[in-house]
Amino acid sequence: MVIVLKNTASQQQVEELISRLERSSVKTNLVQGVHSNIIGLIGDTVHIDIEAILANECVESVQRVQEPYKNANRKFHPDNTVLDICSRQIGGSKTQVIAGPCSVESEKQLMETAIACKQAGATMLRGGAFKPRTSPYSFQGLREEGIALLLKAKKETGLPIVTEIMSLAHIDMFADVDVIQVGARNMQNFELLKALGRCDKPILLKRGLSSTLEELLMSVEYIMSEGNSKVILCERGIRTFEPMTRNTLDISAVALLKHRSHLPVVVDPSHATGIVKLVEPMSLAAVAAGCDGLEIEVHCDPKNALSDGSQQLTPQAFTQVMKKIKALAEFMGKPVDDVG
Ligand code: PEP
Ligand code: MN
Repeated sequence: MVIVLKNTASQQQVEELISRLERSSVKTNLVQGVHSNIIGLIGDTVHIDIEAILANECVESVQRVQEPYKNANRKFHPDNTVLDICSRQIGGSKTQVIAGPCSVESEKQLMETAIACKQAGATMLRGGAFKPRTSPYSFQGLREEGIALLLKAKKETGLPIVTEIMSLAHIDMFADVDVIQVGARNMQNFELLKALGRCDKPILLKRGLSSTLEELLMSVEYIMSEGNSKVILCERGIRTFEPMTRNTLDISAVALLKHRSHLPVVVDPSHATGIVKLVEPMSLAAVAAGCDGLEIEVHCDPKNALSDGSQQLTPQAFTQVMKKIKALAEFMGKPVDDVG
């Protein structure tokens, strides 16, 4: 971190600032230049509060030279993090495909969809039991009953389950869930993230609707700094000025997150576009960009779905998309996991 001092800074102000900084366990290096003086901070600056430094009379500006996220940073952990989810590896040499309905609606709907997803080659099952809906009058999910149905579908198909948590108050209901998803709307629910940091389950953290990648990685930091390093990042599109798609899929985020972080990266082409026809090309684009997995919405009867009908693939369409995903993933050297 570099602190640029004002030309009007007095020696006393600078000395006071330096001694305050050194009390917070960083070393300082005062460099006196021709036009301005700077203080270089050496050591672990994650706990340094930039706003507090800027509040000093003598400070012109503060610049970070290193990223504020440490745990997720590839610089400090050069190897890929590979997570094991019921014997499926994510982040390593295999591609995982998480498929299933937007919402768990009934036993029949979930079982039919789950079996079809498994047959098409999906490696994990998704399904929302707690649904974050824009309107409180829309279907809110089957809640605890939805989780029970997911566990039943896991028993039937052998597919590990991925489902979203919306509140700290529900955490006990997720005891048998394999991957806990944090949705876009909760990416900065810091109390929830801290609590998930104290549990021992993989967390799939989706990028917020209007969040930068640095904000996403700082949210990961909330989970990891509490001790849970099992985090999967998910690019699911962001809000832009473009209304033709539900969101704008940021494909460059995949390659950049893989470069900046050692964590597995998954792409959700369904919420990213909101359009059935775009799920296949965007899935392929994500695989080509180097993702470790996809999360795709599939419904046995999309026309009658209780949420996100327009973006959910029929089992037949998913089967066709899977063929191309498998071929491209193979070509990319990260074949879709063969879970039998
Ligand atoms: C979901 O995956 O069910 C979901 C609501 O997605 P997002 O949080 O990305 O909107
Ligand atoms: Mn959905």
